[in-house]
Amino acid sequence: MSLVIGIDGPAGSGKGTITKLVAEKLDIVNIDTGAMYRSVALATLRAGIPLDDEEKIIALAKKIKIEFDTNGHTYLNKEDVSEEIRKKEVSDIVSIISKIVEVRKEMVRQQRKLAEGLDVIMEGRDITTEVFPNADYKFYLDASVEERAQRRLKQNKEKNIDMSYEEILESIKTRDYNDTHKDYGALKRTEDQIYIDSTNLSIEEVAEIIISKIKESK
Ligand code: C5P
Repeated sequence: MSLVIGIDGPAGSGKGTITKLVAEKLDIVNIDTGAMYRSVALATLRAGIPLDDEEKIIALAKKIKIEFDTNGHTYLNKEDVSEEIRKKEVSDIVSIISKIVEVRKEMVRQQRKLAEGLDVIMEGRDITTEVFPNADYKFYLDASVEERAQRRLKQNKEKNIDMSYEEILESIKTRDYNDTHKDYGALKRTEDQIYIDSTNLSIEEVAEIIISKIKESK
């Protein structure tokens, strides 16, 4: 039987780093669904498709090939785009792209396929509600908006991405709004998720909480 752990939460809540760590510790596959929407956004930019041309974006989303390797690198049509998909131009438009219902349906289909027969930890916005509503474990990872902006600032500095704290804060607030106001696949809290507020916790501490919850119920 395959195991599915779903983790949802807003931008900058630490999902990416924490999921990677938990995947390593439990020796299971890590799937970053945000990287998939970012890949569609990057492909849209490269193809010069206007953001209001939904038909073309949908066709593109169905045509491109998105893959991951075991090191967590993301490939768009066989090209490693792991760094490029984190850039400001992509972050600025990704929540517009991810609002398109047919794009979401295609990504959800691919996400379910990627997990087939594997033990996975999958992170995103709608994993516990839409992609795998029957996941074995469901978590909602949160943190204050200021803390999330600080974390992104630090990550960006490490990756030489030049954005001010104010720019990041604004971008996160806009994404929070867009992520929670979608017709399909909106980020939401539910009764059956385990809620973790990581504002004052380290990455290690959050990973330990997640792992202990999983072990506890085994
Ligand atoms: O997780 P990350 O911030 O990289 O995700 C980028 C964007 O992709 C989010 O702001 C959201 O708009 C979209 N997304 C989504 N559903 C997911 C994962 C990400 O709509 N499951």
